[in-house]
Amino acid sequence: MRPFDYRRAEDARSAVAALDERPDAMYLGGGTNLVDLMRLGVASPEMLVDVTRISSSAIEESADGGLLIGAGVRNSDLACDPLVRLRHPMLAESVLAGASGQIRNMATVGGNLLQRTRCSYFQDISKPCNKRQPGSGCPAREGDHRNLAIIGHSSDCVATHPSDMAVALAALGAIVHVEGRRGSRTVPMPGLHRLPGDEPDRDTVLEAGDLITAVEVPALSFATRSHYRKVRDRASFAFAVVSVAAALDVADGVVRDCRIALGGVAHVPWRAEIAEEALRGSAATATEFTRAADLELAQARPLRDNGFKVPLARNVLVRTLIDLTEAS
Ligand SMILES: Cc1cc2nc3c(=O)[nH]c(=O)nc-3n(C[C@H](O)[C@H](O)[C@H](O)COP(=O)(O)OP(=O)(O)OC[C@H]3O[C@@H](n4cnc5c(N)ncnc54)[C@H](O)[C@@H]3O)c2cc1C
Ligand code: SF4
Repeated sequence: MRPFDYRRAEDARSAVAALDERPDAMYLGGGTNLVDLMRLGVASPEMLVDVTRISSSAIEESADGGLLIGAGVRNSDLACDPLVRLRHPMLAESVLAGASGQIRNMATVGGNLLQRTRCSYFQDISKPCNKRQPGSGCPAREGDHRNLAIIGHSSDCVATHPSDMAVALAALGAIVHVEGRRGSRTVPMPGLHRLPGDEPDRDTVLEAGDLITAVEVPALSFATRSHYRKVRDRASFAFAVVSVAAALDVADGVVRDCRIALGGVAHVPWRAEIAEEALRGSAATATEFTRAADLELAQARPLRDNGFKVPLARNVLVRTLIDLTEAS
């Protein structure tokens, strides 16, 4: 690993100013992704600005019943927070489905949202990769892509977004609070992460030096009936092959409302808006759930070796919706 300077930021403004002064610097959260990438030579910042002590580590209830989660909240604390577990179980479940207990103890909410893809070529500096080195090519397209995207990919990049938590936050319509060079602003989810297009090196819409300060989860009464289901190659310590975050509001056998997002299928946590629209007002039956899932997945363009993700995503989504209906 190359030598680097380390600075502990005093507050959000001084953190942003530090990155303004030193464009070669990066923010340091728990370091569980960034430090790995530095060891691999994928990232080589000359300075790390530690933001763990300035980012709020509180989870506060807002007046309308939503939650404001500080960017510095550790993943373990988020997963075991009583309000999160009660009001947004899919969020707690998504965090618990990721990484390991030790990593969750270190990892922060801000860092989790901005973790980089697990595409093996991205992590191997001896290989070309448009995301790591724009214009160098995408060997995954014809190479090992079993675990990569089936929706929204481009000829330049077929990577998937790795965060489980981001899938639940996309389903819940979370709002990301950002401090940047021009002051504070908010970015809605979905909308924080971007599809690769011809700029796969840009994972998000954030600008250089933007600091995530908090994530707001709006009130959603029926999110108390929500679930995160993750399919992976082994029972723990593995990223999603496919995952589903869903909340369902059923009355008298009819779907009144729902929120659905898919993980492991795209360069972004994929909000399943087509399926949501198809479900509202329909009977809460396996037939209708399957119809909605098929409509969503009609836009899938699987690669040579990951066509299995299409029926897998459909079946996981349908099973999750059936379980939520039966639990009502
Ligand atoms: C073995 C292993 C298995 C894993 N399995 C899973 C899994 O199954 N599911 C899953 O979702 N994750 C998994 N992870 C990833 C883990 O969740 C992330 O590494 C972690 O969430 C990143 O958080 P962090 O605070 O350590 O971020 P860091 O590594 O500190 O930072 C990550 C990125 O975010 C930036 N950053 C950090 N904080 C801020 C901020 N406040 N504002 C702006 N930028 C910021 C950093 O500059 C860096 O670019 C796994 C990790 C490992 C090592
Ligand atoms: S899929 Fe994206 S991250 Fe993977 S090799 Fe291609 S360009 Fe790089």
